[in-house]
Amino acid sequence: MKPAPFSYAKARSLEHAVELLEQSDGEARVLAGGQSLIAALNLRLSSPRLLVDINGLAELGVIASDGDTVAFGAMVRQAAAERSPIVIERAPLIAQALSHVAHPAIRNRGTIGGSIALADPAAELPACLVALDGDVEIAGPSGRRRVAAEDFFKGLYETDLAPGEVLGAVHVPAATEASRYGFGEFARRKGDYALAGLCGAARASGRTLHDVRLVYFGVGLKPVRARKAEAEIEGGPIEEGRVRKAISALADDLDPPEDIQASSALRRHLAGILLERVARQFSESRS
Ligand SMILES: Cc1cc2nc3c(=O)[nH]c(=O)nc-3n(C[C@H](O)[C@H](O)[C@H](O)COP(=O)(O)OP(=O)(O)OC[C@H]3O[C@@H](n4cnc5c(N)ncnc54)[C@H](O)[C@@H]3O)c2cc1C
Repeated sequence: MKPAPFSYAKARSLEHAVELLEQSDGEARVLAGGQSLIAALNLRLSSPRLLVDINGLAELGVIASDGDTVAFGAMVRQAAAERSPIVIERAPLIAQALSHVAHPAIRNRGTIGGSIALADPAAELPACLVALDGDVEIAGPSGRRRVAAEDFFKGLYETDLAPGEVLGAVHVPAATEASRYGFGEFARRKGDYALAGLCGAARASGRTLHDVRLVYFGVGLKPVRARKAEAEIEGGPIEEGRVRKAISALADDLDPPEDIQASSALRRHLAGILLERVARQFSESRS
């Protein structure tokens, strides 16, 4: 199929992009890497009157770290982030997760901001952002604002972004010696969206873990924090008994959907295995 007719405008700045969106009364879409948007247009799942292309905005293509945080401009390509020494060193969970996002050809065009703005419930990056307690920087008609990742994802492909707003950057706390991370996912084939996945983050003091965050993807309408399982891991070392209790707690934390890919029971089972794997990664020191 071919897309419905649309107009095209190349934004000259972030403010110009906001202006263009504002003028089109919710009938425009931002064009980033186009890996999801162009397919949606071709299938006529989306028929905007105007595409606002933000590919020329150099200011959105930068990865930077001030020591405490790592900032990703919205137009940073997923492949560039995956290979960035800053990301590998200071946001290793994101580097690890990116290697599971689609295929290299898609990651060459797909952007960090596009994945976060799309908010696919089976996508890796939204769950990582919540696990890392990161936030999202948004530019709109009344200026810039920042929203915690946990408040940004509202529902199925639904975020806090209003029609006239552009996601400008995402920020995550930089890793320290005490940071512990874990990541795992099950997909039918490498590069497919996950049937179930888990991003974990914690802070170690000796063998004791604090600030444990376990965020699943592919098991709900948006990234899902497994709060009861987190509580079972919080405040102690990783030991088999604690991990068993955390896996049992998933019965309260998760209510996975059933679809043609997997039953709810299979997703629950996979969620338990993922927790075991992530717990094991938590107990390994950073090298
Ligand atoms: C075959 C295939 C397999 C895939 N597998 C995976 C996978 O396993 N995991 C995964 O996470 N993703 C997967 N994807 C999606 C891919 O990672 C895309 O990169 C991502 O969905 C969107 O990024 P993009 O830059 O291409 O955004 P686009 O397609 O350009 O935009 C996506 C949506 O976000 C909006 N948007 C984009 N940027 C902004 C912004 N800065 N501000 C406001 N709105 C914005 C657009 O208007 C549009 O609605 C897959 C895609 C394909 C085609």
